[in-house]
Amino acid sequence: MEQIIRIAVQKSGRLSDDSLSLIKECGIKFYNGTGKLKSTSTNFPVEFLFLRDDDIPGYVADGVADLGIVGENELVEKDKEVITLKKLGFSKCRLSLAIPKGQEYSGVGYFQGKSIATSYPKILSDYLRSKGIQAEIHEISGSVEIAPSIGLAEGIFDIVSSGSTLMMNGLKEVEEVFKSEAVLIGNKNLEDWKKAILDKLLFRINAVQTGKSNKYVLMNAPNESIQRIIELIPGMRSPTILPLAQPGWSSIHSVLSEDQFWENIQELRAAGAEGILVVPIEKMVI
Ligand code: ATP
Ligand code: MG
Repeated sequence: MEQIIRIAVQKSGRLSDDSLSLIKECGIKFYNGTGKLKSTSTNFPVEFLFLRDDDIPGYVADGVADLGIVGENELVEKDKEVITLKKLGFSKCRLSLAIPKGQEYSGVGYFQGKSIATSYPKILSDYLRSKGIQAEIHEISGSVEIAPSIGLAEGIFDIVSSGSTLMMNGLKEVEEVFKSEAVLIGNKNLEDWKKAILDKLLFRINAVQTGKSNKYVLMNAPNESIQRIIELIPGMRSPTILPLAQPGWSSIHSVLSEDQFWENIQELRAAGAEGILVVPIEKMVI
């Protein structure tokens, strides 16, 4: 049998586009026709399963899928035995407690004896227990924000990204409980040949992530400025210096994080750099 591993990704929703983009940026090609539930890559030993995100932790724990991409919120809520292999940096959100806007909030003790609607009963009950609060948890699977206005619960515990959904429903966020982003998870008992494929995948993900957080920077400078500029942009090993056609001038190339670039830009100009270009890096292997 051909040796391929299975990765579970969300079929459609707030994880799926970025999950598929990451896979593509890793150079892994596959056909993703609408409605397809399975797809095998044409150039990497992997098969994709397209699922609801709720099912991904369970499928990976059971070994139906070897790997999966899911939000930490779903992962912790489902409480399945899997390994978290890598934080992926997208689908960032938080789980928060919210109450009707007009209510006065004095601290988490507010929730003592109150009713709270949520799709995340485990994360919520763990949190309330850690604070010594007893509240009644109403588990509902969606549209949690309307619960207070229809009299189902006095507060809610739900995903917040910008807060605009809360506002539209007359609620205010009062406690941020859990921060989440997408993660790559894996089955605990992967065979060695599967681990070898996983290592290749992780190598590619690292190259993509490192590339994204760095920039290729080029600039012109008079030769007497080169030493000072090198101190500001040391680069991977050291910058590249190429002579310009105009005598006494050079082009300096280096790689640095975007943050570093903004921190040093004024000093670079003061040191004599001009014509500064900042170019994205697709992949970077250190
Ligand atoms: P499914 O149909 O697969 O069960 P869903 O409706 O449960 O999907 P989505 O709304 O697609 O879930 O969200 C998937 C995940 O994306 C969430 O569990 C969370 O980790 C993250 N997420 C949710 N809302 C946002 C948001 N507004 N911004 C960023 N990430 C979010
Ligand atoms: Mg879901």
